[in-house]
Amino acid sequence: MSETTDTIFSKIIRREIPANIVYEDDLALAFTDVNPQAPVHILVIPKQPIVKLADAEPEDQALLGHLLLTAKHVAAEAGLKNGYRVVINTDVDGGQSVYHLHLHILGGRPMDWPPG
Ligand code: AMP
Repeated sequence: MSETTDTIFSKIIRREIPANIVYEDDLALAFTDVNPQAPVHILVIPKQPIVKLADAEPEDQALLGHLLLTAKHVAAEAGLKNGYRVVINTDVDGGQSVYHLHLHILGGRPMDWPPG
């Protein structure tokens, strides 16, 4: 998939396509994954379109920390009391399909290891 700063996630941020948004603040947005891989599957994205983790820069440090704390908040709000998994698929070998950095929150069932 080609790399672009204007992905389907940018369209969700701009409300050009619908999404089930569960959290929003100035820096981040969280919405349910359209193809859930667990009973709870939520994506957390920065509003700033960082393409992939490998492109993050030192000046993104605070934003990256904010995304993790947002994931914690969203997981708690989703009732994931037994724990959950946070995944960032990065670039081709990481299995990334949407080139706008995102954290997957997966929960509601025990997770296997290693992942596929
Ligand atoms: P990745 O493969 O890590 O890049 O993850 C991209 C995720 O985005 C996949 O789990 C897709 O199911 C999800 N996805 C793609 N389009 C949408 C959409 N319009 N709304 C919600 N989730 C989406």
